[in-house]
Amino acid sequence: MRRLLALSLSALSLLSPQVSAAREAPPPPPAAADVLLPPAPPWLGALDALYDRRIRVAGLEDRRFSPEHWWNLAGRLATRAGGFDTRVIGRGAEGRPLQHVSWGRGDTRVLLWSQMHGDESTASMAIADLFRLLGEHPRHPLVQRLRRGTTLHLLPIVNPDGAARFQRRNAQGIDINRDARALASPEGRALHDLRERLEPHFGFNLHDQDVGTRVGDSSRGTAIALLAPPYNVAREVDDSRARAIEVSVAIRAVLEPYIAGYIARWDDTFNPRAFGDLTAQAGVSTILIESGGIEGDLQKQRLRKLNFLALAGALDAIATGTHAGLPRAAYEQLPENGRDWADLRIAGGTLALPGKAPARVDLLVEFEDALLERGGMILEIGDLADSQARRTIDASGLYIVPVAGEGADGNTEHRKIARHAPAYFHLSRDPQGRHIVWTLARDVDPDRRVPRAD
Ligand SMILES: [Zn+2]
Repeated sequence: MRRLLALSLSALSLLSPQVSAAREAPPPPPAAADVLLPPAPPWLGALDALYDRRIRVAGLEDRRFSPEHWWNLAGRLATRAGGFDTRVIGRGAEGRPLQHVSWGRGDTRVLLWSQMHGDESTASMAIADLFRLLGEHPRHPLVQRLRRGTTLHLLPIVNPDGAARFQRRNAQGIDINRDARALASPEGRALHDLRERLEPHFGFNLHDQDVGTRVGDSSRGTAIALLAPPYNVAREVDDSRARAIEVSVAIRAVLEPYIAGYIARWDDTFNPRAFGDLTAQAGVSTILIESGGIEGDLQKQRLRKLNFLALAGALDAIATGTHAGLPRAAYEQLPENGRDWADLRIAGGTLALPGKAPARVDLLVEFEDALLERGGMILEIGDLADSQARRTIDASGLYIVPVAGEGADGNTEHRKIARHAPAYFHLSRDPQGRHIVWTLARDVDPDRRVPRAD
């Protein structure tokens, strides 16, 4: 059978060399250098400097904040005098208000929403900064262009109950971004109804993604991923999606000087339950911005600024129409989000459990907060030499021993070291745990990130 196939293929190649050549050697995708990436906007350097001095809103240095705290800061900036109008358009499942903020006098309507996953706060911080730019710098040329060219509609913190707990889902346990079709959540309905009423030309769906995600097949972590979501399963590109791709290129042009090589494209499989996809299906040119992670940027303050600059670039391109004709290839050639690396690998230790034979193992640990290394869980135990992690601790010559904890009856017992158990263990020079050089008690001690050298 295989031989027959080979024969018929070689016969085909004799008959039709062009077809055969095309099959054997598909044209390679053009290298990144082949694409003429549009230059960064001329105002970028000045806006960057102004941001540090007079735009970054104080009080959002910690990316965990309550919705009330955010509105207390940002709501104060969205004044009538500054051209803002704010209305309550709904309530979360626990009654927290959902507020729609509008600004601008232009014909092009843009709807932006953030934090529909309550623990994804980067863009909400940037929106507070955007309010300050728009409200306190009315004569800034960029602000004047946006006021003339666009009317901005914002629904910040779509999931206030989730944000109050810094959790993904709403108070009913619903993932709002899988509720765009069913509309079972009050937050999903509010966003849907607002979109139907406004009929925006552009939509911005603002999220945070897993910090472990790599860019393509590289070892670089994705700082920001972009997507012009598809409106159908075939992932076709109509005029509306083409405009979203152009705006994505405008965003890439802003980000490239800061994070070249750390920008990826989100997977564009159509999801009929997701807001981005269904908004695109409604004919809105939709752009997804996913903030991932930058190592050392523990509170995502660098990413917050990049979000602000990216939104400024995107909105300016929309206000002035300069997105038209930007090369689609500069979007299409972004590598997709690739593998997801674990947060921490303990390499080459010896597991020493009381009463059990010692065993040479590696451990993989995943944290609830990957950047701060808090809330650890043991992902896997065994030979993990082929697994990649964002950080590795060399435990060769060390024993992995249990941490003493208090049992239900008040007696001392040992925390389990097991797959999917909370991550509690010591690294010790001896199997009895007398000479401890490093401890993980769910959270990594920021003052002792690596084992003591003594
Ligand atoms: Zn999300």
